[in-house]
Amino acid sequence: MESKTPKSIVILGGSYGGISAAHYLLKHAIPKLPSPQDYRIVLVSTSNEILCRPACPRAMIADDLLPQDKLFVSIPSVFEQYPSQNIQFEHATAEKVDHEARTVLIRSAGDGSEKTIQYYALIIATGASTASPLLSLNKDSTFIRSQWGIFREKMKTAVSIVIAGGGPAGIEAAGELGEYLNGQAGWFSCKQENPKVRITVVTSAAQILPALRSSIAEKAEGYLARVGVTVIKNTKVTGVSPSESGTEITLATDTKVTLSDGQELDADIYIPAMGMTPNTAFLDATLLTGDGRVDTNPTTLRVDKAGVRVYAVGDVGSYAKPAVHAILNAIPVLGANIKRDLLLDAGTSEASLGPEREYKEDTRETQMVPIGRSKGVGAAMGFQLPSFLIWAIKGRDYWLWTTGGLWSGKQWNKES
Ligand SMILES: Cc1cc2nc3c(=O)[nH]c(=O)nc-3n(C[C@H](O)[C@H](O)[C@H](O)COP(=O)(O)OP(=O)(O)OC[C@H]3O[C@@H](n4cnc5c(N)ncnc54)[C@H](O)[C@@H]3O)c2cc1C
Repeated sequence: MESKTPKSIVILGGSYGGISAAHYLLKHAIPKLPSPQDYRIVLVSTSNEILCRPACPRAMIADDLLPQDKLFVSIPSVFEQYPSQNIQFEHATAEKVDHEARTVLIRSAGDGSEKTIQYYALIIATGASTASPLLSLNKDSTFIRSQWGIFREKMKTAVSIVIAGGGPAGIEAAGELGEYLNGQAGWFSCKQENPKVRITVVTSAAQILPALRSSIAEKAEGYLARVGVTVIKNTKVTGVSPSESGTEITLATDTKVTLSDGQELDADIYIPAMGMTPNTAFLDATLLTGDGRVDTNPTTLRVDKAGVRVYAVGDVGSYAKPAVHAILNAIPVLGANIKRDLLLDAGTSEASLGPEREYKEDTRETQMVPIGRSKGVGAAMGFQLPSFLIWAIKGRDYWLWTTGGLWSGKQWNKES
């Protein structure tokens, strides 16, 4: 019998968005198609391991602070449960998407060879990178481990650390480093007057943690002071010397940090923790918004300008703020709409399929920020949470209790 070339549903990026989309389609879309054997998910990711990325502020400090077997999980292993003809993993980086020709050029992480894949459907889930290589999988898991190694060596002798950025990544990193290096202030003190290591957070905003109300941010500042962290607000970092300090190029170099008020800070370690850069260099500029994310239909999660059956999910998409909970809400909508598009194209009548699913961003105040290993601040769905709950939900193990179900796909066993 003549074998047909399967239709490739290419997913770019193997993290919260890409892994979840793959499980969802393998469980709920492909088996429902008239001939499932004719479809293959091709998951392309620069890293062959998934990382619980929110855990980076603690994980970067020492391996014994979090269980390593839960922190990094092999991507191929989580897809062994599915028919092999339906899933293919490419440990590779997408270098160019030609959305007119519907092809993606990938470069293998192994031998550097190039391959062009013709896609039938495309899901862009390549996320965003941080300026500091300590805080996300900017390359692969071997690379981040090596960067943590360099950082840990420098940490042994550091007496001053400057962190630029008062968002959750910067504040969590400051809290973790503060507690690890300085410990907590005594019962009767509200701050450490002479910490072993001076840790300074610089933010251009009027408060740290701008996604939370100011009273919560003030509480966080209090917890930071207890671990020897000073916060400078309303002040920009206007320059660092050397100019590439804190990045993979000069990660552990002594740095002079210049501030907008004229101050100069000497840092043994400098961590740039402000903003993220969407990983979209491989896409045509016409598909992007002004801030470099993929221009995504906020209701359907399709990338309308890229032609049929092209979608974006996760931090790379313009449809929501970057957060795991936004991705978890988006996956069932994305899955349902892709399934609908595939069934329609396979000849199922529109009348029998029902309407499309619509995504709606939950914009209520939701953010949890551990400050060290026993305290934290935050809110969920608009309600402020006490410190012990932030510890119990996030600070205890930085969400590792949730990733087992996510990476294995159990989270998506039910079509919701
Ligand atoms: C320090 C830190 C703490 C955070 N804490 C929280 C938190 O507590 N709660 C919360 O909700 N959110 C948190 N976030 C945000 C959360 O981590 C992101 O929302 C989430 O990781 C986004 O997942 P993603 O799948 O969109 O992309 P990412 O996690 O960014 O992953 C993208 C993947 O795509 C791969 N990739 C990139 N480019 C290519 C390419 N060209 N070809 C192939 N593969 C590619 C990358 O290697 C990576 O594996 C935090 C973020 C940071 C940085």
